[in-house]
Amino acid sequence: MLRHILLVVLSLLFVAVAATPAGAHITRPGQSTFGAQALVPPNSDPFTVGPRTPAVVDGPCTDRSAALQYADEKGHDHLKIENHAVACQMQQQAFLDLKKELDSDPLGNDDEVLGEMDVEGDVAAVLITYPRAGVLFFDVSNPAAPKFLRRYNGPACEGTAIDVDCGAFVDLSRDGKTAFLSVQQISVIPGLNPGAIAEPARPGVQVINVATGMLTEEQPVVSVGGVHTSRDHVVPDGPKSAEKPRRPGQYLFSVANGEGIQVSRVVSGPLGPALDDVGLISIDDTHDMFIQDDPIDGRTYMYVAAGFDTGFLVYDVTDPQAAVGDGKQLLAQWDLTPQCRNDWYSHTIDVATRNGRRYVTMPTEGFNNGAQSEDDQRGGCGKTSGNGDKASALWIVDATDFKALGQGTFADATDGRGTPAARAVKIKAASEQALTATWTNAAARPAQNINFTGHNQQIVGDRIYLSGYHSGVTVLDASAAFAGLNERPKELGFIVPSGTPTRPIYDQVNNPVIPFFSAFINFRPLIWDMVFYKGSVLAADMTGGFYAFTDPPPAPATDGAPKTAPAPPAQPAQPAAPAATPTPVACQSRAGFVSATARGTGRNGGLELDFRRRIDEPVTVDIFQQSRGRRVTGERRVRRFTGKTGPFEWNGRDGRGRKLPNGVYFARFRIESPSGQADTVRVTLGRSKGRFGPRRAFYRRDSCGTLQKFKLSRPVFGGKRSTSLGIAYRLNQGARVQVTVANRRERVIRRYSARQLDAGRTQRLTLPARGLARGDYRIKLSVTRDGRTTTSTLTANRL
Ligand SMILES: [Zn+2]
Repeated sequence: MLRHILLVVLSLLFVAVAATPAGAHITRPGQSTFGAQALVPPNSDPFTVGPRTPAVVDGPCTDRSAALQYADEKGHDHLKIENHAVACQMQQQAFLDLKKELDSDPLGNDDEVLGEMDVEGDVAAVLITYPRAGVLFFDVSNPAAPKFLRRYNGPACEGTAIDVDCGAFVDLSRDGKTAFLSVQQISVIPGLNPGAIAEPARPGVQVINVATGMLTEEQPVVSVGGVHTSRDHVVPDGPKSAEKPRRPGQYLFSVANGEGIQVSRVVSGPLGPALDDVGLISIDDTHDMFIQDDPIDGRTYMYVAAGFDTGFLVYDVTDPQAAVGDGKQLLAQWDLTPQCRNDWYSHTIDVATRNGRRYVTMPTEGFNNGAQSEDDQRGGCGKTSGNGDKASALWIVDATDFKALGQGTFADATDGRGTPAARAVKIKAASEQALTATWTNAAARPAQNINFTGHNQQIVGDRIYLSGYHSGVTVLDASAAFAGLNERPKELGFIVPSGTPTRPIYDQVNNPVIPFFSAFINFRPLIWDMVFYKGSVLAADMTGGFYAFTDPPPAPATDGAPKTAPAPPAQPAQPAAPAATPTPVACQSRAGFVSATARGTGRNGGLELDFRRRIDEPVTVDIFQQSRGRRVTGERRVRRFTGKTGPFEWNGRDGRGRKLPNGVYFARFRIESPSGQADTVRVTLGRSKGRFGPRRAFYRRDSCGTLQKFKLSRPVFGGKRSTSLGIAYRLNQGARVQVTVANRRERVIRRYSARQLDAGRTQRLTLPARGLARGDYRIKLSVTRDGRTTTSTLTANRL
C-alpha cells in the first residue's frame, strides 16, 4: 500500500537532493509523458462514475451509510473512537486490543501500527507495518473468536530521512503454513529509527514458517524502494484443454516497486520454503495483482492493478518463465484516462467469473498529492494529483474478451504501433465500452487524503467486501453488475470498528526529513484490510486491534434489492459461505400503495403526481432521466421529492430551474412501512416537444403471485453505444417460464428457451441491441404452474 506516495516522496527527495526539475513523478527512460492531447476528449467525470452513470438502487443500508458512515462535519473529531460507533446489519463478534502483543516491541516505541492481512487454512496473518515489519498470527478456526498464536519480528523501518512503512504486505500459502512478508525500504538513503536494535530493513521478501514464527529465507529484490506486495500461486498441471505453454508449480509474484513483477519459484531450502529467481516482468508502475486459474479457458491469468499510469493489465502466466521480460504475455489493458499520469490510482484488483463472463473489480485509491499539473488539468485529469477531491470509484469491468481491450498497447510504450496519443484514444474507447458499472460511496464523500477511499476488497459470491480506511468495512451486493447490468452495487451492510480499550497511537520518536507515515496515521479507526472467512468478517485496525464481525444477512425482498442467499464462493480456494436457503419473507410487496400515477400537464411541461396509500407513512418520489435523443443516459435522477402525503404538481424543471430535455423518463414512488418493507411503483414517461406523456411500463410492480419480480434494466436501450437490454425476473413459487421478445408488429424476434425454475432466485437475460431496428420491443414472460399460464409484458424502446 501507499507505494505511490512513497514514490512521490522519493522523487521529492530526489528533487531536494539532485535539484531535478519539479514534477513529482519518476519518469524512466523511454517513458513518454504526453499529457494534454486534444485527441482525447475529457469525460464528464471520469474519476467518479466514468462515462456511463449507473442505475442507483438502494440496498438495505444505503441510506444509513450516506448519513452515518462518512462523518466529516464540523466539530467531528476523527481521533475519538466513540464518535465512530456506527453500523448497519453488522455487529462486532470479537475484539482483541493487542495492547500486550504490540507492547513487546523491542524498539521501545509507544506502539506499532497494523497493516494488511491474509487468511488461509484457519490461520490469520496480520501485518505489523511500522516502525518495524512483522506479523501477528491468529488461530481463526472459529473466526468469531480469534486466538492470538505468535508474533514474527522482522526488520526495522527507516525513520531518519523518510518514515516509510517497511512492512508492506503479508501473504499466506494456501495451506496456511508459509507466510511471505514484503519489505519496503528506500535503500539509497541509509538511516534507522534512533534507538532501534532490530536489523534495518532490506528491500525484498522474507519467508516465514508460520508454525515456528522463524525466518526460512530472505530474498533481496531489485526495485525502487522495495517490494509492495507478494502473492503466491500454484500453477496447476492441467486442464488438458489449456495445456501449452504451461510450467506447473508454486510461484511467488512480487511487486518490485518501479520495476515490475518479480517472479520466483517456491522451492525447498535448508531451513524450509525458499525462493528461486525466475525473472522480472517489466511494468513501469504496479501496485497489486490477482492471480487466477481461469474457470473459462483453464489458463492462469495475472491481473495487475497498475497504479497511476495504466489502469489494469492482464498477463498469461500459465508459464511464468515465458511471461518474464517486457510485455511478452500481455493480453489486455484497461484505462479510462490513458492520457493522464497522476489521476486516479489503481489500487487492488479481483475477478468474478459469472455465466461465462469475467468481471474485474478495481477500487481506486484517492489521495491528495497537491495540484495536478497544468498539462494534466487541460487533459481532463482533474485538479488534484491523486483525485482526492473526488469520491473514489470502484470500477467493475467486463474483461471477457481480452482482445476487445487494449492489447499490449501501453499508453507510454514505444512499440512503434502508432503515436502514444493515438493509442490512448483506442484504449480509452475500448475501456469505456468495457465498463459495466461503478460504485462510489453513498455519501459521495471525496476521498480527501486517503481518509474516505476504498482500499482492499474480496469477492465472495455476488458480494464485494471492501475496506475503506476511516469508513471501516462495507459489504456490497454486486449481483446486478455481475449479471452485466450498469447498476451501482448496493450496501448490504457496514461497520465502522470502534472497539475499546484503545492502544496509544504511534508517536514518532524523531522527526524525519520528510514525514510520511507518521503524518498519516492520526485517525481512528483506519481499516486497511478485511477478509471474509467462514461466515465472519475479520479486520485489522491500524491504530486499534483485531476484530471479528457478523456477516450481513441477505437483503430483504425490497425493491431492487433481491433477497439473495449468501452466494457460493467465487473459487474453491476461497472460504465457503455458510449454506443457507432464502428465508421466506411475508409477502408485503404491495402493502404500501393503493395506486400511484404521473400525468403530464400539457403545455407548461409539468407533471401531476398522485398516489393513494394503505399506510400512514411519507412518500418519496424520484424522477429519473433515461435517454436524451438517441443516447441512453443511464439512470440519472433529476428531481427528488420527499415527505409527500398527497398529490402535488411539478413544473418539469430540474433543481436549478432548467427545463428538462426531451427523452424517456420515469417517476418512482416509494413508501416504507415501519418494519422497513418498501413498496415501489414506477411510472414510465416520454417527454417530447417539452411535454410529458404516458409510455408503456418497463418495470412491473412486485407481486405476491407466482411471478414476484419482472423488470427491464431501463425503458430504452441501443443508442449509439448499442447498449443491450437487461431482463430480470424472480419467482415466488417454482414454475415453467418462457420469455419472448416481439417487435412493434407483434412478430417474435427472439425466443429464450423455456425453463422450469425454482423460487427465490433472480434470473437474468440479455437482449443485445445490435441488429435490431429502432422502435418499441415487447418482452413477454409466460409463467406456467399447475397447468395455468399467466403472461406479463414489459416494453423498451430501442433508440
Ligand atoms: Zn472520523
